[in-house]
Amino acid sequence: MKYKNNRGCLFVLSAPSGTGKTTIANRICKELDNIEISISYTTRQPRDGEVEGLHYYFIQKDRFNQMINDNAFLEWAAVHGNYYGTSRYKIEEILSSNKDVLLDIDTQGGKSIKLQDPDSVLIFIMPPSFDELKNRLIKRATEPIEKINQRLQNAHKEISESIHYDYIVVNDDLDRAVEEVKCIIKAERNRTIRYNIKHMFKSKEG
Ligand code: 5GP
Repeated sequence: MKYKNNRGCLFVLSAPSGTGKTTIANRICKELDNIEISISYTTRQPRDGEVEGLHYYFIQKDRFNQMINDNAFLEWAAVHGNYYGTSRYKIEEILSSNKDVLLDIDTQGGKSIKLQDPDSVLIFIMPPSFDELKNRLIKRATEPIEKINQRLQNAHKEISESIHYDYIVVNDDLDRAVEEVKCIIKAERNRTIRYNIKHMFKSKEG
């Protein structure tokens, strides 16, 4: 990868809860080289099977507030009644090692990232329909019914925010959706704005 300034690129994946975004994000990081998923901080309680430092860093609200005051978050947001934030330090560490970052964050976070870095790439994963989304959330059974209803209400708002995104991928077939996101990432990596042509001349001289 010969990125300008030897800096990786920020890719954001957003979707209503239950759309399969996290599964897609994990597959992307497994199947593509040179891209790392960012692990967020959250005040939400861990779900069964979630591991500290692998799925999230689970912290208390006062530590989260402290991190806001310390400017430790590149972006943060309240989502479904909990707080979530992206570590500024960790993102900088990955990007400056010339690697891409994949952020699995909500649409508030996506908008904030785009404002800070207009060359970032926002990809919205769309569910096939609201009915399908409701079925998936009920089947997943990670939340009680009132939380599922809250997430469905938020889904309407999030879908209307997709107009601010660069790409929309419909997840009606997981393999195809993963393939489409991979194609977007590969194409974006080859955009002229990211390519360091000076590298060509340097390697010729040297
Ligand atoms: P969940 O509780 O289902 O893991 O995540 C709820 C929502 O919060 C998802 O849309 C997820 O992408 C989003 N989220 C996770 N981490 C972050 C973060 O660091 N910042 C923002 N803005 N959203 C996040």
